[in-house]
Amino acid sequence: MENAMLLTAQAGQISDAQLLANQTWERCLIIIKDQVSSLSYKTWFQPIIPLRLNGKDLTVQVPSQFFYDWLEEHYNTLIRNTITNVIGESGKLYYFVASEEPVSTQPAQPEHNTASPITDSTRTPFAPHVPLRTENLQSVRNNLNPRYLFDNFIKGDCNQLARAAAMAVANNPGGTSFNPLVFYGGTGLGKTHLMHALGNHAAVNGKAKRIAYISSEKFTVDFIESVQGDKVTEFSSFYRSMDLLIVDDIQFFAGKEKTQDNFFHTFNALYQLGKQIVLSSDVPPKELHGLDERLISRFQCGLTADLQPPDLETRIAILQKKSEENALELPPNIIDFIASNVTKNIRELEGCLISLLARASLENREIGIDLAKDVLRVVVNDIRTPLTIEQIQKTVCEYFDIPVDLLRAKTRKQEVVVARQIAMYIAKEMTSSSLKTIGMHFGGRDHSTVIHACQAVEEFLKTNNKHKQHIDQIRRTIELNK
Ligand code: ADP
Ligand code: MG
Repeated sequence: MENAMLLTAQAGQISDAQLLANQTWERCLIIIKDQVSSLSYKTWFQPIIPLRLNGKDLTVQVPSQFFYDWLEEHYNTLIRNTITNVIGESGKLYYFVASEEPVSTQPAQPEHNTASPITDSTRTPFAPHVPLRTENLQSVRNNLNPRYLFDNFIKGDCNQLARAAAMAVANNPGGTSFNPLVFYGGTGLGKTHLMHALGNHAAVNGKAKRIAYISSEKFTVDFIESVQGDKVTEFSSFYRSMDLLIVDDIQFFAGKEKTQDNFFHTFNALYQLGKQIVLSSDVPPKELHGLDERLISRFQCGLTADLQPPDLETRIAILQKKSEENALELPPNIIDFIASNVTKNIRELEGCLISLLARASLENREIGIDLAKDVLRVVVNDIRTPLTIEQIQKTVCEYFDIPVDLLRAKTRKQEVVVARQIAMYIAKEMTSSSLKTIGMHFGGRDHSTVIHACQAVEEFLKTNNKHKQHIDQIRRTIELNK
C-alpha cells in the first residue's frame, strides 16, 4: 500500500538515503549561506529538512505551500546552481510540502502542483497529498510530519482537553477509554498538528508499531483506486493491520457511501482488536452531514475534544515560539501587535510572521511597527494598534480616579498600591512585555516587585469578590477602547 503514510517500527533508525541527504544538504547550505543575508538564511533555508538522496535525486521537506512558492519565486536560480554544484548536472531537487490542508479546501491547486515535472525540469514539487512516487514510503524516516510535536504545540485554555487527551493516547494507544479520540474545531486551530504530535510521540516511545496517518480524502482516493485495480482486500487489510490509525478531516467522507462503508468495517475491526483510532473533523461528530448514522455513533463512543480559537496569551506564546523556531527575536510590541490583530486562526498567525520575515529580508526593512502594519493590512481589514502599558495605566487610574503619575511615584498609600498592582497584573496578562519592562513603566521598579504584585492580585482574585469585579470591569474597558 505504497500510497499510505506508514511509519514502521524502526522509528529513529536512519537510512542511508537519509544520511546521504543530510550530508548533501549540509554542503548545499554552506554555499547558500555565503550568498544570502543571515536573516534570509534563517528564514528560508534553516527550516528545510533533507529527507533522502536517491542517486542524484535529493528530496527535501518545506513547511508549507507558501514557503515553497516563496523559494520558487525568489531563490530558484540560487538553489538550482547550488544543486548542480553539489550533486552535478543531472542533480534534481524534489520538494515535499509538509502542509496537511486538504486539497479541496484550498483554492484550485496550481497546475504544476503534481508529481510530474514542471517547466523547470530540475525541480519537481509535490502537492501535500501526492505521495513520493518512486519510493517505498516505509523507508522514509518521518511520514508523520516531524515538525509537528507536543514540544512545539503551545498549551492554552483553547486546547487543554484536546492536548491532554492526545498525550494520554500517545502514551497508551488503544489502552485508554479515549477510543476513538476525535478532535474537532475550525480550520487552522491545530487539529493536524496535534494528530501528528500524537503519532510521532507514540512512534518514538515505541507504543505503537504500525502507525498510519491519512486524510479522509486520500483514504477515499486510495479506496477508489483499489476498487479499480481490484485490490480492495489488500487496501482493507493494510489499514486493519494498524496499531494506530489517524484519519484527518473526516468531514470529507460526506456523501461517499462506499468509502464510508469500507471505513466503517475498518473502524470496527480495529476497535475490536483494541487498536487506537484518532480522527479529526471541522464540526462535532453529531453535526457531520452526509455521514452514515452508524459511523457517527461509532465516532461518539470514545472522547470528543474541541480546539477553540486561542486567547491573546496563547497567541502571544505561539508567536514567541514560532519566532524562536526561526531563530528570531521579535520585539514584544510587534508580537503584541500581530497577536491582537490575528485572532481566529493559528495558521494565519504563522503566515503573518513568515510574511514579516520575508518582507524584512527581501525589502531590506527593519522589523518594526510600520512593516508589521503593511503585512497585516493584507490579512486584516481593521487593524488595531497594540495595547500599551500606558493605556493600561490610564484605564486603571481613570477607574480608581487617581492621577497616573502616582503609579510611578514612591507612594505606598493603600489605594495607590492596589491600583499599581492591578495595572502591573493586567500589563503582564494582556501584553507580552517582560517583567523588567513592566517594572520600568512603573517608576523603574524591579522585576521582583512585578512578580509580587501579580501574586498579590492572584490572591485577591481568589478571595476578594469586589476586587475581582474591579479587575473584570477594567479588562472590559480596555478591550472596548482598544
Ligand atoms: P487544522 O488542522 O486545525 O486546520 P493545523 O494543525 O494545520 O490546523 O495548524 C495550523 C498551523 O498552526 C500549523 O502550522 C500548526 O503548527 C500551528 N498551530 C496550531 N495550533 C498550535 C499550537 N497550539 N501551538 C503551536 N502551533 C500551533
Ligand atoms: Mg488540518
